[in-house]
Amino acid sequence: MRPKIQTLPKEVVNLIAAGEVIDSLAAVVRELVENSLDAGATRIIISIISEQWRVQISDNGMGMNLANLKQAAHPHSTSKITNLQDLTKISSLGFRGEALHSLANLSNLEILSRPNSPLFGDESEGWRVVYNEQGKPIEVERVAIAPGTIIKVSNLFGKWPVRRQGMPSPPQQMRGIQLIIQQIALCYPDVTWQVWQGRKLWMHISPGPTAKQILPQILSTVRLSDLQYIQQEVDEQEAEELNIKILNFSQYQDSQFLDRQSLELVLGLPDRCHRRRPDWVKVGINGRVVKVPELEQAIISSLARTCPGDRYPVCFIHLQIFPYQINWNRHPAKTEIYLDNLKFWQQQINLAIGKALQFSSEMMPEFPLSERVEKILKVSENRGNYQTRRGIEVSPDNREEKNQELGLIELKAIAQLHNTYIVGEHPSGMWLIEQHIAHERILYEELCDAWQVIFLETPIILHHLSSAQIEQFQRLNIEVEIFGDLVWAARSAPKMLAKRNDCADALIELSKGGDLESAKVATACRSAIRNGTPLSLPEMQSLLNKWQLTRNPRTCPHGRPIYLPLEESALARFFRRHWVIGKSHGI
Ligand code: ADP
Ligand code: MG
Repeated sequence: MRPKIQTLPKEVVNLIAAGEVIDSLAAVVRELVENSLDAGATRIIISIISEQWRVQISDNGMGMNLANLKQAAHPHSTSKITNLQDLTKISSLGFRGEALHSLANLSNLEILSRPNSPLFGDESEGWRVVYNEQGKPIEVERVAIAPGTIIKVSNLFGKWPVRRQGMPSPPQQMRGIQLIIQQIALCYPDVTWQVWQGRKLWMHISPGPTAKQILPQILSTVRLSDLQYIQQEVDEQEAEELNIKILNFSQYQDSQFLDRQSLELVLGLPDRCHRRRPDWVKVGINGRVVKVPELEQAIISSLARTCPGDRYPVCFIHLQIFPYQINWNRHPAKTEIYLDNLKFWQQQINLAIGKALQFSSEMMPEFPLSERVEKILKVSENRGNYQTRRGIEVSPDNREEKNQELGLIELKAIAQLHNTYIVGEHPSGMWLIEQHIAHERILYEELCDAWQVIFLETPIILHHLSSAQIEQFQRLNIEVEIFGDLVWAARSAPKMLAKRNDCADALIELSKGGDLESAKVATACRSAIRNGTPLSLPEMQSLLNKWQLTRNPRTCPHGRPIYLPLEESALARFFRRHWVIGKSHGI
């Protein structure tokens, strides 16, 4: 933001005119909150009395001096851009200079502000200004307030009773406001949020280092440990390889503007959380959650065959994109945008989700003893009460090093339970892996990489096929020909099934419909080792190694979880390892 609020020139106004911005209480909250964020606030307190059409927002941002306060509610007055060129590099949430003016027009508007930034030199007094309908100051007085800004809006649409009619009910409006704050809080994790309804604290979000810490505060069913987080720069080089036009950014070098693109991903691990509706598949771009159906679809399809068929992922992706690629003028509230290079960003999303789903040593918890447990254990050990083993022993054949080379995590097959579960030892604790679905995941991905139909030396005889079944075989590239009365011969079959004794049954199953995708799932399921099959330790180890290198080791293609981790920290808690034995037993 610049230190001075100015009226925009006509040619800029004509270009960005967007229609009505204030159409509800939620819109008031959105516009004012965005102003607070643009002013660099880290603490935003919102107070709403919906029955009285009243909203007040206080922030600890940079504030305004008296000159700016007088100018703030004039039409098309902003401190965020001054000319057309600025539009292509805009990184603030606001830039049209319309919200305060509209509010002056539609409600009783009052602003209290005290500068809190070196931009205002030694001006540090607080002022209160009341505006008339045209946005002109009609009352100006000195006030003693903390640095920052308080904006008071009351009697919204008071002179426009028609606009109040047909508005959603107060509880519905509150829900709208809740969603606005939740979404924006994900984009600004370092902000403390409070929403008051009258005298009642209605919503509170504590700050965190990233959006990962915000999501569990919003969705009570999601725990921090259910989430995977990735933050990465999006390389210009990569973009260039994909033939995407990259401008010379030296012309954009300006401290207030974005100088690199990045992607931030918070993903609910598909074996731990998913939802009935795609209501938490969200995309934020440059600080604002927006509707970009093509990107939301990219998220959902990246997680296909990962979540159960009728469920949707929990996923928030925040992209920082060079502003010249974005056109915000698709919707007055800037909730929908046009984006250049959609394909490139879809691909980036796909890659990031792929990375988040995989097991790799950098993604796995190391030895997740909580700091407190760790401390207590150390004290107890020092007293010689007992010993714990920390870290994994390096086996004589340097298994750890070899694993690193192969990209494997440290997971050692220890035993088999009920001929069904493999017990694995991992530095973070003990894992139980269901052998059938782990194998199913391996085979499914093999089939995705190469769906091979091979010629059968001895044809397989099938009886009573309907015309729909024959068509289905054709779709799957499986050759069948008439062999006699109501008898057909299959001349080819998926390679994985060809040698099986039950190949005829498998072919009949495939003939019953579904696309190639479902055929792969069915084939993988049938070919995977059954539960109840005894396995030797080397067989189990080999299965674990192959499984953990799959693209999505967490769930089978039907969306069932494959492994259950029993974290060492949970075991330590259960076995009360923090007890200082001597003392607590009076020995
Ligand atoms: P825009 O956000 O598009 O610039 P607004 O009408 O929302 O237009 O705000 C006008 C100007 O008032 C802003 O450009 C900014 O300089 C100033 N302003 C508004 N709210 C605040 C705030 N909470 N803290 C500091 N300055 C503010
Ligand atoms: Mg604004």
